Parts: sequence; C-alpha cells; structure tokens
Amino acid sequence: MNLSTFSITQLIELDACTRCGQCVSWCPTFVETDDHLVHPLGKIAREKQMIRGRFGWLSRLIGGRAPKNGDLAAFAKGVYRCTLCGRCAVVCPVGLRTRDLWLAMREQLTALNQQPEVFNRLRDTVTAAHNISGDPNENRGLWSDNLPTKPEGLFGKRNAETVYFIGCVGAMFPAAYGIPQSFTQTLMRTDVDFTTLGGEEWCCGFPLLIAGMRDAAIELMRHNVETVRALGAKRLVATCPSCYHTWHTDYPAILGKPLGFEVVHATQLLADLIARKRLVPGALELKVTYHDPCDLGRTSGIYDEPRYVLQSIPGVELIEMQDHRERALCCGGGGDVEMGEPTLTAAVAKRRIGQAQATGAQVIVSACQQCKRTMASAVRKEKVRMKVLDVAEVVWQALST
Ligand code: SF4
Ligand code: SF4
Repeated sequence: MNLSTFSITQLIELDACTRCGQCVSWCPTFVETDDHLVHPLGKIAREKQMIRGRFGWLSRLIGGRAPKNGDLAAFAKGVYRCTLCGRCAVVCPVGLRTRDLWLAMREQLTALNQQPEVFNRLRDTVTAAHNISGDPNENRGLWSDNLPTKPEGLFGKRNAETVYFIGCVGAMFPAAYGIPQSFTQTLMRTDVDFTTLGGEEWCCGFPLLIAGMRDAAIELMRHNVETVRALGAKRLVATCPSCYHTWHTDYPAILGKPLGFEVVHATQLLADLIARKRLVPGALELKVTYHDPCDLGRTSGIYDEPRYVLQSIPGVELIEMQDHRERALCCGGGGDVEMGEPTLTAAVAKRRIGQAQATGAQVIVSACQQCKRTMASAVRKEKVRMKVLDVAEVVWQALST
C-alpha cells in the first residue's frame, strides 16, 4: 500500500474530515445500498484506518500492518459503488474536494490490483478498439447515415473552425444517435464552420481516468490532441459533459501543457449562438424539467447555459425538480457504476425519475448522452409517461417544427 496517489493537500483533507456526517444522507448510493463504506465518512474513516495501520506511530514499534484482504475488498466495493456525483462536496462544511479524493482512492486500489474485473475488461476494450463498445472505431460515423443532408466535410475537414467531439456513447450507441444528429443539423443552420474526427476520434479517456487507470488513458489523450491540432481547429465542442470536462480540465493538467484551442460544452455554444441571434429557435409548446448532469453542473460549474437555451424557446416552460443545480440528484449513470452494478444505477435513476414526475413536466431534459441513456431506460422500466431528451434535441425540434 502506498500513498503516492494522494497529494499532500489530499492527505491533509483526509485528516480534516470532522466525522460530522452531513454528507451521509445526501449520498445517493448510500441511500440505496445502506453500505457504510460507500458514503464519504465511511470511506475516509477506512482509508485513515489503513494508513494508521501501515504508517502510524504504533507501526514503528511493532511493524506496519498491510490491510487484510477482506477489509480491502470491502473498501474497494464501497469506493467503486460511488457514482462520483460530487453531491457530498456541496454539503461538506469543511469544503473537502471529495470527488478528487475518491479518484485518488480508485488509483490507489488499482495499484493494489483491487479494481473490479469489469474495469480490466474496459481497459482492454478501450485500448484495443479506442471506444467503450468494442465495435470497430470506423463505426463512429454511423449516426450520420440517415441525416437528410450530410454536411460537406463532416469528417476530418482541415482548418474547420470547430471540431465537434461526439464521444463514445453518442457515436457508438444507437439510442443516443439523436444527440449528434440534432446538434449537427442545428449547427448546419448557423454559420459555424465545423467538422468531426470520424474514425480518428478515440475515447477521450474519461472512463479509464475514473476507473483509476490514468496511465492507460494517456495514449488516447495524446492521439486526440494531435488529431485536433493537425486539423488546425480553434475550438472543440462536446455534447458529452464528461468528454467536455476531460478535455477542458484533465487534458492540460495531465499532458502538462495548454491545448492551444478552446474547449466548450454544446450548451455554451448554443447559448452563445442564441444570445447573438445567430440561432433563433421557433416555438415549441412543452413543459420540461431539467436534470443537471453531475459532470456539467457540480464538476464543471455549468448551470445557467442549458436553462438559458431552454427558456429561449418560445412556449417552453421550465419547472425545476425538488433537487436541482448544485444539489441535483445524480441519475445513477456516473462513476462507471453501471458496468459493475446495473441494479444500483437503476435504483438511483428511479429516484430521480420520481422527482421529475412530481413536477408535472412532459419531458425530462438533460445535456448528457449518458444521463439520457440511464433515465430513458428507467422511464421505460418504471412505465413512466415522460420523454427523455437532450437540450440539443429540444433545440433541433424547435428549429424543425
Ligand atoms: S460522490 Fe456521490 S455517490 Fe460518491 S460519496 Fe459523494 S455523494 Fe456519494
Ligand atoms: S460532511 Fe465532510 S467533514 Fe462531515 S463527515 Fe462528510 S466528508 Fe467528513
């Protein structure tokens, strides 16, 4: 066991937890599992116990104790059940940056080979196929096959001002094709000069980073940055908040230098186009509620733009859920949890769908293909009469009806 995955500040943060327990009832996975090694207080206490056993003053007298295998396995189960939603950080009175702590714990567990087996398969798939589905990466363009008109230079156009990075879920899972289809057709109604990377788009690395497998993500990151640079783009836009955050924040931090181009989320670009009247949505009579994706809201601080876009559409009424903005409930689809424990993801999603239903809205709108996939499957399973759409899809509907 070593502590190199924690920064000095993080080791101090572990010590700064006052065990007040404020975070416990806010943790959506604890609420569903009753597992005391999921919530922050439990994870931090166990981590500190392991550190004391290995490096504490007693260990100098009687020798350091490695954690017992059973204890380590239970700890790993808790750490990998966390959706990394970051809700605990919002209520923590001492301001612990919890999400980063959970990531450091996952890296530590991976170094001890305690990650769930499913993550090894994920790493092998992404490394070999360059996407999370394992299908040939050339299939990344299939979503565009039934566009009424394909824009010229959709794949790999040199010197396009903007590269649209679609992300694995939008590009490889037909249930999410509507998002790149809608966003592309919307951009075609503007003067944005754009292209995509087609089969040269590789997974951004996010699923590996959050699995605690940073080293395996670096080759993907380098390839993506070099490909965008070679095209000469000035801006990268992503409809996926996790891709957005990875490009915007993790790429420069991990690769150690600025990217040399701007990175924005699709809702920021749409809000800017609408504010400057370069995009004028038509009317759409619709009651909607907005689900803040964890990686767009809490992780990236983007709350206003998606709401501005929706409220710019004449006829759209936005009704907020009980928990929204910083305190929004997770959809359950984060943290790679679904790969190991799909029933837990479904339970968290069911709770979120219940909050959406209580608003009386017809549509749950999000700004994330993974949130859409998770909530659409919960709506189907629970037989809830609500549609689940992405902001990009609502905008396209408002332009095309
Ligand atoms: S990040 Fe979310 S799931 Fe993880 S411990 Fe915090 S509140 Fe719970
Ligand atoms: S709210 Fe913060 S200080 Fe309190 S138990 Fe949770 S992590 Fe520790």
